[in-house]
Amino acid sequence: MNYFIRTFGCQMNKADSEIIDGVMQSAGHIPVISEGEADLVIINTCGVREHAVDRLYGYIRSLRPEAGPHRPFVAVGGCVAQLKKDSLFDDLCQVDCVFGTTSFDRLPEAATLMSGGAQRVNLISLDQAVKEGLPVRRAQITKAWLPISRGCDNYCAYCVVPYARGSERSRVLDVIVAEAESLAGNGFFEITLLGQNVNSYGNDLGEVDLFAVLLKRLDKIDGLRRIRFLTSHPKDLSAKTIEAIATSSSVCEHLHLPLQSGSDKVLASMKRGYDAERYLERVKSIRGAVAGISLTTDLIVGFPGENENDFAATMSLVDEIGFDSAFMFRYSKRAGTLAARLEETVPEEEKEQRLTRLIELQSKISLIKNREYIGREVEVFIEGPSRRNPAYMKGLTRTNKTVNLTSPHDRTGPFQTVRIDDATSASLAGVLCGKIG
Ligand code: SAH
Ligand code: SF4
Repeated sequence: MNYFIRTFGCQMNKADSEIIDGVMQSAGHIPVISEGEADLVIINTCGVREHAVDRLYGYIRSLRPEAGPHRPFVAVGGCVAQLKKDSLFDDLCQVDCVFGTTSFDRLPEAATLMSGGAQRVNLISLDQAVKEGLPVRRAQITKAWLPISRGCDNYCAYCVVPYARGSERSRVLDVIVAEAESLAGNGFFEITLLGQNVNSYGNDLGEVDLFAVLLKRLDKIDGLRRIRFLTSHPKDLSAKTIEAIATSSSVCEHLHLPLQSGSDKVLASMKRGYDAERYLERVKSIRGAVAGISLTTDLIVGFPGENENDFAATMSLVDEIGFDSAFMFRYSKRAGTLAARLEETVPEEEKEQRLTRLIELQSKISLIKNREYIGREVEVFIEGPSRRNPAYMKGLTRTNKTVNLTSPHDRTGPFQTVRIDDATSASLAGVLCGKIG
């Protein structure tokens, strides 16, 4: 079959789609670059917010209008499929197969069943064991995602992820290191370690601070120049991990540390396991240990019970910390979560207003942070044509900032030194300078 994969959502979904791609191709199926050429459209879904689910339903409906011919086949995996299971067949007549968050290896079997006329192929599995050794077809040739754990045990009150992805299962350290070595040997310069909470990596194996050990092991691999990781839960960011980030030269100076709210009352009702003071203390430690580290975060406005004072506490903490950037969301009620039982107290218009105020504040801060780069020379990993001007290239700093080149990229090699001469709240701009990184 010709297959096309459409991925919604987070980096873990992108990494999973690369496994789906690898499994399908190894079974002899042929990847194509659009839905129009596909016999089978495979969709990897995100259920973290209602808006994502609405977009997904719109997309699936557009694939095969109800009265249309029975092509392409549609297989739906990822979080929405795992949560809705076979009720997806009733919601959307276009769906031929559901496969959830763990059954990627069975997709070729599903393709055979569908082409043989089978309907409503349900591959959702309750077996959560991490499957090792599945083929991966990576989207990029110099940067790779590397999942280190699956699932999450935190049950933050607003979040569906633990229900969609199951409890935390860490991959074995030596297996991860071997995969990173093989990536480095195959010309990859950068890896991003993925887990819902990388800071608790290994806890389910009975280990403590294994993430710090992992970072140090990966740092020794020749050829890997940049190591990134997502996501860090503030409650589990230990002194040992901070020390490992600080002392491992390949680990990039960037930490994504979701705050969610600046109000202790809201943080407690979100069940985040820290208060504003503890979060601030972690920020001070990491900034003290890693000079110039960029800090990014996630924030939710309008959680049930969030009043104007609580929101003011978020605004004030965001101002005090000065994040480099933030993903900011309106609270979205998710069925089955603890927060779904709480009464929604913030009207949608009020959520919208709070979000707008927060975005305005953060944009000002991001601009100030980015302008601090003007005049500096930084290492940029050149990634491809700039969106602003496709004749020029763009890349990323170690601190995860996009840099648009304003002169032609006339050198070879992906690492270049760039002098920053301009900045917006979203990106930096600069010219190549003499030194080659
Ligand atoms: N495991 C990661 C990713 C979780 S989902 C982590 O813990 O950071 C990514 C972000 O989506 C969360 O940090 C949160 O800010 C946001 N989010 C999750 N559930 C949400 C909900 N119900 N409504 C609004 N935002 C939500
Ligand atoms: Fe969701 Fe919290 Fe787990 Fe992140 S740590 S995936 S927000 S439950």
